[in-house]
Amino acid sequence: MSLIADNIRYFDEQLKDTPARLVAVTKTHPVETIKEAYDAGHRLFGENKVQELVEKYELLPHDIEWHLIGHLQTNKVKYIAGFINTIQSVDSLKLLAEINKRAEQRNRTMPINCLLQFSIADEETKHGMAYEEAVALLQSEEYRNMHYIRITGVMGIATNTEDQEKLRQEFRQLRSYFEQLKETFFFANPDFKEISMGMTSDWQLALKEGSTMIRVGSGIFGSRNYNK
Ligand SMILES: *Cc1c(COP(=O)(O)O)cnc(C)c1O
Repeated sequence: MSLIADNIRYFDEQLKDTPARLVAVTKTHPVETIKEAYDAGHRLFGENKVQELVEKYELLPHDIEWHLIGHLQTNKVKYIAGFINTIQSVDSLKLLAEINKRAEQRNRTMPINCLLQFSIADEETKHGMAYEEAVALLQSEEYRNMHYIRITGVMGIATNTEDQEKLRQEFRQLRSYFEQLKETFFFANPDFKEISMGMTSDWQLALKEGSTMIRVGSGIFGSRNYNK
């Protein structure tokens, strides 16, 4: 058995009695490597760039559930609208409208699942909305007329730090956004259920704070080489 298969089994075991699922983050890794996780039974994968995602989608089996986890430009939505399961990085009404439009054009049988990405970290480079922006989005007439997307939860990227207390605060912040939105806009809607938080270095803490999706890359596939 491969090391990657071992890692998949390790996470299956760790998550078995939790509500959380593992998004195996495959960016920079070749399809042969991804295939090892697939052959170990894993089906939920995440990529952060559109072009790389499309190339891999075409080469890999089509029962994979693909999530886009990186920043998405509106002019690239069309390339993934036909097959994407979930876009975790929705950070504006404009982007959501484009996703809805492209999903409609593709005649999808299932809507595209969307997570609202919140800015919870210090770093200004990390994308995501403030809470009030999400409220404005959800109150808009335009959103209420979108029938080809569904908002299934929230996503956030914590600060890159070892400071556990800081990480805990950021995860709690995201969870409280989730709970407030649930109560205000999705009270009777079981589709709104996801809190995507936690990566290789902080998934255990994220899990304790209520994560339903951990996004793990290097912890499964090893370190990334961006210079290839
Ligand atoms: C790369 C990436 C991850 C995974 O990072 P690791 O530290 O390798 O686990 C998770 N989320 C997002 C948004 C990413 O871009």
